[in-house]
Amino acid sequence: MTQSTPAPTDPPAADSTAKRALVELDNVNKHFGSFQALKDINLTIPEGQVAIVVGPSGSGKSTLCRTINRLETIDEGGTIRIDGKPLPAEGKGLAQLRADVGMVFQSFNLFAHKSIVENVTLGPIKVKGLKKSQAQEEAMALLERVGVAQQAKKMPAQLSGGQQQRVAIARALAMRPKVMLFDEPTSALDPEMVQEVLDVMVQLAHEGMTMVVVTHEMGFARKAGDRVIFMDQGAILEDTEPESFFTHPQHPRAKDFLGKIL
Ligand code: ADP
Ligand code: MG
Repeated sequence: MTQSTPAPTDPPAADSTAKRALVELDNVNKHFGSFQALKDINLTIPEGQVAIVVGPSGSGKSTLCRTINRLETIDEGGTIRIDGKPLPAEGKGLAQLRADVGMVFQSFNLFAHKSIVENVTLGPIKVKGLKKSQAQEEAMALLERVGVAQQAKKMPAQLSGGQQQRVAIARALAMRPKVMLFDEPTSALDPEMVQEVLDVMVQLAHEGMTMVVVTHEMGFARKAGDRVIFMDQGAILEDTEPESFFTHPQHPRAKDFLGKIL
């Protein structure tokens, strides 16, 4: 966001002190066989930032999210750190990492045979060792927050897509993540349900959650985004403020991309 220049005598604003980097990618490359899906990605996301990731289909947006969450490994030589800690190669550290990094997918992926509230309590009970009663109390508060508390006892199939996606957000939040990744969270929804999910995400952003959001929802990007990262063919080609990206894209491929989605 734009900041006014402080007068020379002003003490440094609290905000201007360096925020801690929650997500750091250094020289991240990813090959699938001989195909390179990520090309030398360097990216730091400070605490509280909302980074919007855009780009044409196949540009590597999902792969980027999946590597941050360690659903995909990266090529040797690069590093990813979450809150200063390098991603564990495998084993026990992975469960903790996944607790630190919440992820919401395009397809809501709720457990079909568990009730809504059970979908939210499962992770905290299994991974965090919460007592059932406490997990339920926290789950109800989260379901309230995303506006689906009334549906707590229902099964996922009884909910609309928008409601299911809000439950998926509550389920991710139940692990008390440090950062939330959203991979096209509204693109599988009927149009009338898009806004209710975006509203929850805007609220989350305003509460200070650190977020990486793959979306082409420009209203959301402008309202909640601090930064737009434009990817094409596995590389970051532009990294700028939402307003300047949408009004004055610099890279020819960004211009071309915006021409197609606007
Ligand atoms: P986006 O999310 O921007 O549409 P993806 O990250 O899903 O792009 O994919 C980037 C590229 O990597 C695509 O060309 C895709 O076909 C390829 N890709 C993704 N996952 C795999 C995989 N598991 N095996 C082989 N190729 C993959
Ligand atoms: Mg994708």
